[in-house]
Amino acid sequence: MDYYSTKITALIEELSRLPGIGAKSAGRLAFHLLNMPQADVERLTGAVLEAKRTVRYCRQCCTLTDSELCPICQSPSRDQAQIMVVENTRDLAAYEKTGKYNGVYHVLHGAISPALGIGPADIKLKELMQRLQGDVEEVIVATNSSLEGETTAMYLSKLIKPTGIKVTRIASGVPVGGDLEYIDEVTLLRALEGRTQL
Ligand code: ZN
Repeated sequence: MDYYSTKITALIEELSRLPGIGAKSAGRLAFHLLNMPQADVERLTGAVLEAKRTVRYCRQCCTLTDSELCPICQSPSRDQAQIMVVENTRDLAAYEKTGKYNGVYHVLHGAISPALGIGPADIKLKELMQRLQGDVEEVIVATNSSLEGETTAMYLSKLIKPTGIKVTRIASGVPVGGDLEYIDEVTLLRALEGRTQL
């Protein structure tokens, strides 16, 4: 790519590091950015920097938010006794889109994967166990149906069962290895309604 100037090549390289962006798309985006009005580019980079600066983990559920407690944990109409455990903030968003779940969440930010060297201490598990000391009736394990998601579900069930809190797993209507965020709302609702006790 040395037929471009160094600065353009650098921009293309940075963009191609983003997930789902190949060399071709990176080039297209780079030239699109360069053709945008200066003010638009500044608004875009400003939004990226501002989000990066202010976004943090919710004190309670560990989702990404820009306040100490996320809007879901803050809401008085949500049932704090029902906690749905998901792997990431995008999975949380997928369930929120259905508009039918009224409990709260816990975001693990990953799943246990011995193959990748990701253990229980590498995800937000300790934070979940601390929450279970409060008034919790049910933990719904909604990790993905991948090997990592299932491993995490089994681990959680073993950990939580002795506390006497009900542990359920969403139904396996969710395709194996499927990322929750790509599954349609009807399938998600069916998986939630058909959950079984672990
Ligand atoms: Zn929260």
